[in-house]
Amino acid sequence: MLSSRVVHAYLLTGPAGTGKRTLADICARALFCQSAGERPCDACPACRQLLSGNHPDFIRLRPEKSIGVNDVRAVIERLSVKPYEADRHVVVVEQADKMTPQAQNALLKTLETPPGPDVFFLIAGQMTAMLPTIVSRCRMVRFHYLEPDEAETALKAHGLPEDRARLLARLSQGSVGRALAMNESDAWWALREKVIASLAALHEKQDVAVAALPLAEKREQASDILDILELCARDLMVIQDAGGGVVQTDIEEKLAQLRFTGSRALRGVMEARRMLASNVAWQSALEMLFFNMAGG
Ligand SMILES: [Zn+2]
Repeated sequence: MLSSRVVHAYLLTGPAGTGKRTLADICARALFCQSAGERPCDACPACRQLLSGNHPDFIRLRPEKSIGVNDVRAVIERLSVKPYEADRHVVVVEQADKMTPQAQNALLKTLETPPGPDVFFLIAGQMTAMLPTIVSRCRMVRFHYLEPDEAETALKAHGLPEDRARLLARLSQGSVGRALAMNESDAWWALREKVIASLAALHEKQDVAVAALPLAEKREQASDILDILELCARDLMVIQDAGGGVVQTDIEEKLAQLRFTGSRALRGVMEARRMLASNVAWQSALEMLFFNMAGG
Protein backbone atom coordinates (compact mmCIF):
# COMPACT_ATOMS: atom_id res chain seq x y z
CA MET A 1 0.00 0.00 0.00
CA LEU A 2 1.12 3.52 -0.79
CA SER A 3 -0.66 5.14 2.17
CA SER A 4 2.35 6.23 4.18
CA ARG A 5 3.79 8.41 1.43
CA VAL A 6 0.59 9.80 -0.03
CA VAL A 7 -0.10 13.52 -0.40
CA HIS A 8 -3.60 14.97 -0.03
CA ALA A 9 -3.96 16.32 -3.58
CA TYR A 10 -2.13 15.85 -6.84
CA LEU A 11 -2.35 18.03 -9.92
CA LEU A 12 -1.52 16.06 -13.05
CA THR A 13 -0.83 18.40 -15.94
CA GLY A 14 0.38 18.09 -19.53
CA PRO A 15 -0.97 17.64 -23.04
CA ALA A 16 -3.72 15.17 -23.99
CA GLY A 17 -2.79 11.55 -24.44
CA THR A 18 0.27 11.57 -22.20
CA GLY A 19 -1.10 9.26 -19.51
CA LYS A 20 -2.50 11.59 -16.85
CA ARG A 21 -5.78 9.75 -16.39
CA THR A 22 -4.08 6.37 -16.67
CA LEU A 23 -1.73 7.29 -13.83
CA ALA A 24 -4.55 8.67 -11.66
CA ASP A 25 -6.49 5.44 -12.14
CA ILE A 26 -3.46 3.28 -11.33
CA CYS A 27 -2.81 5.33 -8.19
CA ALA A 28 -6.46 4.96 -7.15
CA ARG A 29 -6.16 1.18 -7.49
CA ALA A 30 -2.87 1.20 -5.58
CA LEU A 31 -4.57 3.14 -2.76
CA PHE A 32 -7.49 0.74 -2.54
CA CYS A 33 -5.71 -2.51 -3.42
CA GLN A 34 -6.07 -5.16 -0.74
CA SER A 35 -2.91 -7.07 -1.66
CA ALA A 36 0.48 -6.35 -0.15
CA GLY A 37 2.49 -5.04 -3.10
CA GLU A 38 3.16 -1.41 -4.03
CA ARG A 39 1.52 -1.81 -7.41
CA PRO A 40 -2.18 -2.59 -7.75
CA CYS A 41 -2.71 -6.33 -8.22
CA ASP A 42 -5.72 -5.76 -10.52
CA ALA A 43 -7.16 -9.02 -9.14
CA CYS A 44 -8.45 -8.35 -5.61
CA PRO A 45 -12.09 -7.29 -5.09
CA ALA A 46 -11.14 -3.59 -4.70
CA CYS A 47 -9.04 -3.52 -7.88
CA ARG A 48 -11.77 -5.31 -9.80
CA GLN A 49 -14.44 -2.90 -8.53
CA LEU A 50 -12.33 0.03 -9.72
CA LEU A 51 -11.60 -1.55 -13.07
CA SER A 52 -15.32 -2.05 -13.65
CA GLY A 53 -16.12 1.46 -12.40
CA ASN A 54 -18.03 0.29 -9.31
CA HIS A 55 -15.97 1.12 -6.23
CA PRO A 56 -18.27 2.88 -3.75
CA ASP A 57 -15.49 5.07 -2.33
CA PHE A 58 -14.10 6.19 -5.67
CA ILE A 59 -15.52 9.41 -7.10
CA ARG A 60 -14.89 10.54 -10.65
CA LEU A 61 -15.89 13.98 -11.89
CA ARG A 62 -15.90 14.16 -15.67
CA PRO A 63 -17.36 17.34 -17.15
CA GLU A 64 -19.37 17.55 -20.30
CA LYS A 65 -18.79 21.26 -20.68
CA SER A 66 -17.69 22.69 -17.37
CA ILE A 67 -17.59 21.78 -13.68
CA GLY A 68 -19.81 24.09 -11.67
CA VAL A 69 -19.93 24.82 -7.98
CA ASN A 70 -22.84 22.39 -7.48
CA ASP A 71 -20.84 19.51 -8.97
CA VAL A 72 -18.05 20.19 -6.49
CA ARG A 73 -20.50 20.55 -3.58
CA ALA A 74 -21.99 17.15 -4.45
CA VAL A 75 -18.52 15.61 -4.23
CA ILE A 76 -17.80 17.31 -0.91
CA GLU A 77 -21.08 15.97 0.43
CA ARG A 78 -20.08 12.43 -0.51
CA LEU A 79 -16.74 12.95 1.25
CA SER A 80 -18.56 13.89 4.46
CA VAL A 81 -19.98 10.36 4.61
CA LYS A 82 -17.70 7.64 5.97
CA PRO A 83 -16.19 5.43 3.24
CA TYR A 84 -18.18 2.24 2.69
CA GLU A 85 -15.45 -0.31 2.10
CA ALA A 86 -12.03 1.33 2.17
CA ASP A 87 -10.46 3.62 4.75
CA ARG A 88 -10.61 6.64 2.45
CA HIS A 89 -12.22 8.22 -0.60
CA VAL A 90 -10.31 8.85 -3.78
CA VAL A 91 -11.52 11.62 -6.08
CA VAL A 92 -10.40 12.01 -9.69
CA VAL A 93 -11.39 15.29 -11.31
CA GLU A 94 -10.94 15.00 -15.06
CA GLN A 95 -10.44 18.25 -16.96
CA ALA A 96 -10.08 20.10 -13.68
CA ASP A 97 -9.25 23.17 -15.78
CA LYS A 98 -12.94 23.21 -16.72
CA MET A 99 -13.90 24.02 -13.13
CA THR A 100 -15.44 27.46 -12.85
CA PRO A 101 -13.63 29.81 -10.42
CA GLN A 102 -16.55 29.34 -7.99
CA ALA A 103 -16.17 25.57 -8.22
CA GLN A 104 -12.43 25.87 -7.61
CA ASN A 105 -13.05 28.04 -4.57
CA ALA A 106 -15.49 25.48 -3.19
CA LEU A 107 -12.88 22.77 -3.69
CA LEU A 108 -10.20 24.96 -2.16
CA LYS A 109 -12.06 24.98 1.17
CA THR A 110 -11.85 21.20 1.24
CA LEU A 111 -8.19 21.17 0.26
CA GLU A 112 -7.45 23.69 2.99
CA THR A 113 -8.97 21.72 5.81
CA PRO A 114 -6.51 19.49 7.67
CA PRO A 115 -5.83 16.60 5.33
CA GLY A 116 -7.72 13.44 6.19
CA PRO A 117 -7.12 10.17 4.42
CA ASP A 118 -8.99 11.23 1.25
CA VAL A 119 -6.87 11.80 -1.86
CA PHE A 120 -7.60 14.05 -4.84
CA PHE A 121 -6.22 13.72 -8.34
CA LEU A 122 -6.89 16.82 -10.42
CA ILE A 123 -6.18 16.36 -14.12
CA ALA A 124 -5.60 19.54 -16.12
CA GLY A 125 -4.44 19.95 -19.70
CA GLN A 126 -4.21 23.72 -19.33
CA MET A 127 -2.81 25.35 -16.24
CA THR A 128 -3.98 28.85 -17.19
CA ALA A 129 -7.52 28.27 -15.91
CA MET A 130 -6.40 26.90 -12.54
CA LEU A 131 -6.50 29.24 -9.53
CA PRO A 132 -3.01 29.70 -8.05
CA THR A 133 -4.48 28.97 -4.62
CA ILE A 134 -5.53 25.51 -5.83
CA VAL A 135 -2.20 24.88 -7.53
CA SER A 136 -0.30 25.78 -4.36
CA ARG A 137 -2.28 23.15 -2.42
CA CYS A 138 -1.38 20.34 -4.81
CA ARG A 139 1.67 18.30 -5.56
CA MET A 140 2.22 18.95 -9.26
CA VAL A 141 3.14 16.13 -11.63
CA ARG A 142 3.98 17.18 -15.19
CA PHE A 143 3.43 14.91 -18.19
CA HIS A 144 5.14 15.08 -21.57
CA TYR A 145 4.90 13.37 -24.90
CA LEU A 146 7.27 10.46 -25.19
CA GLU A 147 10.09 10.08 -27.67
CA PRO A 148 8.94 7.80 -30.52
CA ASP A 149 11.02 4.88 -29.28
CA GLU A 150 9.59 5.20 -25.76
CA ALA A 151 6.05 5.46 -27.13
CA GLU A 152 6.69 2.37 -29.25
CA THR A 153 7.77 0.44 -26.15
CA ALA A 154 4.69 1.62 -24.26
CA LEU A 155 2.41 0.57 -27.13
CA LYS A 156 4.00 -2.86 -27.30
CA ALA A 157 3.34 -3.15 -23.56
CA HIS A 158 -0.32 -2.49 -24.41
CA GLY A 159 -0.18 -5.55 -26.64
CA LEU A 160 0.20 -3.93 -30.06
CA PRO A 161 2.27 -5.86 -32.61
CA GLU A 162 5.70 -4.39 -33.28
CA ASP A 163 5.07 -2.87 -36.73
CA ARG A 164 1.78 -1.32 -35.66
CA ALA A 165 3.40 0.04 -32.47
CA ARG A 166 6.24 1.61 -34.46
CA LEU A 167 3.88 3.22 -36.94
CA LEU A 168 1.45 4.54 -34.31
CA ALA A 169 4.21 5.84 -32.04
CA ARG A 170 5.32 8.05 -34.90
CA LEU A 171 1.88 8.92 -36.25
CA SER A 172 0.76 10.07 -32.82
CA GLN A 173 3.96 12.03 -32.22
CA GLY A 174 4.58 10.29 -28.94
CA SER A 175 1.07 10.57 -27.51
CA VAL A 176 0.30 7.04 -26.32
CA GLY A 177 -3.33 7.91 -25.63
CA ARG A 178 -3.82 9.25 -29.15
CA ALA A 179 -1.99 6.23 -30.59
CA LEU A 180 -4.29 3.82 -28.75
CA ALA A 181 -7.36 5.74 -29.92
CA MET A 182 -6.06 5.63 -33.50
CA ASN A 183 -5.42 1.92 -33.16
CA GLU A 184 -9.05 1.36 -32.19
CA SER A 185 -10.48 3.71 -34.76
CA ASP A 186 -11.30 1.98 -38.03
CA ALA A 187 -12.48 5.36 -39.24
CA TRP A 188 -8.99 6.86 -39.22
CA TRP A 189 -7.49 4.02 -41.27
CA ALA A 190 -10.40 4.15 -43.69
CA LEU A 191 -9.95 7.89 -44.07
CA ARG A 192 -6.26 7.42 -44.81
CA GLU A 193 -7.20 4.84 -47.47
CA LYS A 194 -9.42 7.46 -49.09
CA VAL A 195 -6.67 10.08 -48.99
CA ILE A 196 -4.19 7.69 -50.62
CA ALA A 197 -6.77 6.73 -53.24
CA SER A 198 -7.31 10.41 -54.05
CA LEU A 199 -3.57 11.00 -54.36
CA ALA A 200 -3.29 7.99 -56.67
CA ALA A 201 -6.17 9.32 -58.78
CA LEU A 202 -4.48 12.71 -59.01
CA HIS A 203 -1.24 11.03 -59.97
CA GLU A 204 -2.90 9.02 -62.74
CA LYS A 205 -5.52 11.36 -64.15
CA GLN A 206 -4.21 14.84 -63.40
CA ASP A 207 -7.84 15.92 -62.94
CA VAL A 208 -7.87 18.00 -59.78
CA ALA A 209 -11.65 18.25 -59.36
CA VAL A 210 -12.26 14.54 -59.87
CA ALA A 211 -9.41 13.47 -57.58
CA ALA A 212 -10.45 15.91 -54.85
CA LEU A 213 -14.16 15.12 -54.91
CA PRO A 214 -14.28 12.12 -52.50
CA LEU A 215 -12.38 14.17 -49.89
CA ALA A 216 -14.21 17.41 -50.65
CA GLU A 217 -17.41 15.71 -49.49
CA LYS A 218 -15.89 15.19 -46.04
CA ARG A 219 -15.86 18.78 -44.85
CA GLU A 220 -16.24 17.75 -41.19
CA GLN A 221 -13.02 15.71 -41.43
CA ALA A 222 -11.01 18.45 -43.16
CA SER A 223 -8.55 18.76 -40.28
CA ASP A 224 -7.87 15.00 -40.14
CA ILE A 225 -7.49 14.87 -43.92
CA LEU A 226 -4.92 17.67 -43.85
CA ASP A 227 -3.05 15.90 -41.02
CA ILE A 228 -2.89 12.75 -43.14
CA LEU A 229 -1.82 14.72 -46.22
CA GLU A 230 0.91 16.36 -44.14
CA LEU A 231 2.15 12.94 -43.02
CA CYS A 232 2.20 11.78 -46.62
CA ALA A 233 4.03 14.93 -47.72
CA ARG A 234 6.66 14.45 -45.01
CA ASP A 235 7.10 10.80 -45.94
CA LEU A 236 7.43 11.78 -49.61
CA MET A 237 10.18 14.23 -48.65
CA VAL A 238 12.02 11.47 -46.77
CA ILE A 239 11.62 9.05 -49.68
CA GLN A 240 12.81 11.66 -52.16
CA ASP A 241 15.81 12.48 -49.99
CA ALA A 242 16.54 8.74 -49.99
CA GLY A 243 16.92 8.93 -46.21
CA GLY A 244 15.44 6.41 -43.78
CA GLY A 245 12.75 7.31 -41.29
CA VAL A 246 9.51 6.99 -43.25
CA VAL A 247 6.67 7.07 -40.71
CA GLN A 248 4.06 5.22 -42.72
CA THR A 249 6.18 2.21 -43.55
CA ASP A 250 3.04 0.21 -44.32
CA ILE A 251 2.27 2.35 -47.38
CA GLU A 252 5.82 3.35 -48.30
CA GLU A 253 5.69 1.55 -51.65
CA LYS A 254 2.43 3.21 -52.63
CA LEU A 255 3.81 6.62 -51.70
CA ALA A 256 7.04 6.03 -53.60
CA GLN A 257 5.05 5.55 -56.80
CA LEU A 258 3.53 9.04 -56.57
CA ARG A 259 5.40 11.65 -58.52
CA PHE A 260 4.51 14.61 -56.31
CA THR A 261 7.30 16.66 -54.79
CA GLY A 262 7.13 16.24 -51.01
CA SER A 263 8.21 19.77 -50.16
CA ARG A 264 5.69 21.25 -52.58
CA ALA A 265 2.95 19.07 -51.08
CA LEU A 266 3.90 20.17 -47.56
CA ARG A 267 3.73 23.85 -48.53
CA GLY A 268 0.36 23.11 -50.10
CA VAL A 269 -0.96 21.60 -46.86
CA MET A 270 0.17 24.64 -44.86
CA GLU A 271 -1.50 26.93 -47.35
CA ALA A 272 -4.72 24.89 -47.25
CA ARG A 273 -4.79 25.20 -43.43
CA ARG A 274 -4.40 28.97 -43.74
CA MET A 275 -7.21 29.10 -46.29
CA LEU A 276 -9.52 27.10 -44.02
CA ALA A 277 -8.68 29.35 -41.08
CA SER A 278 -9.72 32.36 -43.14
CA ASN A 279 -13.00 30.70 -44.05
CA VAL A 280 -12.21 29.66 -47.60
CA ALA A 281 -14.53 26.77 -48.57
CA TRP A 282 -13.00 23.35 -47.89
CA GLN A 283 -13.51 22.18 -51.46
CA SER A 284 -11.69 25.24 -52.85
CA ALA A 285 -8.81 24.88 -50.38
CA LEU A 286 -8.47 21.18 -51.20
CA GLU A 287 -8.59 21.74 -54.95
CA MET A 288 -5.96 24.46 -54.65
CA LEU A 289 -3.78 22.07 -52.68
CA PHE A 290 -4.17 19.31 -55.30
CA PHE A 291 -3.57 21.85 -58.07
CA ASN A 292 -0.30 22.89 -56.41
CA MET A 293 0.74 19.29 -55.80
CA ALA A 294 0.06 18.33 -59.42
CA GLY A 295 2.50 20.98 -60.51
CA GLY A 296 0.28 24.05 -60.70
ZN1 LIG B 1 -5.66 -5.28 -5.81
